[in-house]
Amino acid sequence: MVEEKKVLQEVTMEKITSLCKRKGFIFPACEIYGGLANAYSYGPYGAELKKNIKELWWKKFVQNRVDMVGMDGPILLHPKLWEASGHTTGFNDAMVDCKKCKKRFRADHLVEELTGKDLEGQLDEMTNILRDEKLKCPECGQSDWTKARNINMMFKTDMNGITESLYLRPETAGAIFVDFKNIVDSMRVKVPFGIAQIGKAFRNEIVARNFIFRLREFEQMEIEYFIDPEIKWEPLFDNWLELQEEFIMELGAKKENLRRFEHAKEKLSHYSRKTVDIEYKFPFGFSELFGLAHRGDFDLTQHTKFSNEKLEYFDAQNNRRYTPHVIEPTFGLDRTILVALLAAYTEEKVKNDTRVVMKFPKKIAPVKVAILPLSKKKPLSDSAKEIFENLSSEFVCEYDQTQSIGKRYRRQDEIGTPYCVTIDFDSLEDKKVTVRDRDTMEQERIQIAKLKDYLREKLNS
Ligand code: ATP
Repeated sequence: MVEEKKVLQEVTMEKITSLCKRKGFIFPACEIYGGLANAYSYGPYGAELKKNIKELWWKKFVQNRVDMVGMDGPILLHPKLWEASGHTTGFNDAMVDCKKCKKRFRADHLVEELTGKDLEGQLDEMTNILRDEKLKCPECGQSDWTKARNINMMFKTDMNGITESLYLRPETAGAIFVDFKNIVDSMRVKVPFGIAQIGKAFRNEIVARNFIFRLREFEQMEIEYFIDPEIKWEPLFDNWLELQEEFIMELGAKKENLRRFEHAKEKLSHYSRKTVDIEYKFPFGFSELFGLAHRGDFDLTQHTKFSNEKLEYFDAQNNRRYTPHVIEPTFGLDRTILVALLAAYTEEKVKNDTRVVMKFPKKIAPVKVAILPLSKKKPLSDSAKEIFENLSSEFVCEYDQTQSIGKRYRRQDEIGTPYCVTIDFDSLEDKKVTVRDRDTMEQERIQIAKLKDYLREKLNS
């Protein structure tokens, strides 16, 4: 029988952070050593969730499209790449220190919160405003600020102690541009085509915060989509925006929690025709989830200049050689995971109890099926283990034989397992098991012989 249920209050960051730690999704990294500022590890369920999201992205944007190829470049790239892209000189954030408590802040963020003004790059203006308005330090409440100054956000490292200016890549895109020629030469791709990559990026963020929203080590899923400079690019740009929104909605986000923020023309980099951020309504407010930018031929031209290697495309049909323009859809993987967690989190009143259930779309749920024998004893446990072995060759399954069945259902609800399979004493006689649906809590008796087909159909529906 279905229990009566009623949806309770809104999700908060505290609830998600706590569930993630309690239930093995995401832990503060190096906790036994006191943690490392806003660094996190993905635990067993978090790692499954992340893997499922990456696979879905790859399938949608690479596997299912004839105009896309994938690649996987290194994190350590030639220092000249970052000179060419402008990161060495221009990839800066404005920071300011409180002289009293020595805490460091993003100067532009403090000024924006105070005045609503975006003073990007105007360091003297920021210093004056912070001092004139006597802004109180959010940490200690005093008002004694250093000058605002720029710091480069790239993490510096070295190779065998001898190579100077080697950086951990601050974005994955760079690796794509430097392999443009290899891909054009080896893959017989035809413009328009895209190159996709998933991988780690590192940024020395002044303030890392909001759980996995702003990290110093994170993952990106990026695409460089090369187009003929002479075509009308606007429809393609709009289509990418729609695809980016479609992707996050496939992971459970609601349309009303998304909005587009178009960068003002005068704020755009000189090479960009248009830049739009896709923002999500996080519990701390609307903030950037994904980005989309028309970058013209800036990247290929710069790398040609710095490497002396021509990065062009030859259109054999029209006997034309040109430098393609590029549209860049970029997706932050950790922010995507945060949205999937926030969108899934549901609290329901069931009879006199509160049920927390992660209503992930089935395709991204970390565990697909839980196998729950009513008794630990043979022959029931043998039968349950046989079912586990059979199902786990196809789906990620979990075997759980401890505590009451009600508690086991709740545990699976909290990690978002779509189906629980209960093996009871009747199962030994009638060769049937009970399958419980996570969302409706309805239960159905299914023949063991047909169980795998039944679950496959349900999980793919
Ligand atoms: P923000 O304005 O929030 O700092 P950004 O405009 O610098 O972001 P991009 O350089 O466009 O971000 O990076 C592409 C994507 O990478 C972003 O849309 C976001 O999803 C993700 N991203 C960027 N910085 C971080 C970070 N510090 N932690 C987690 N994800 C990030």
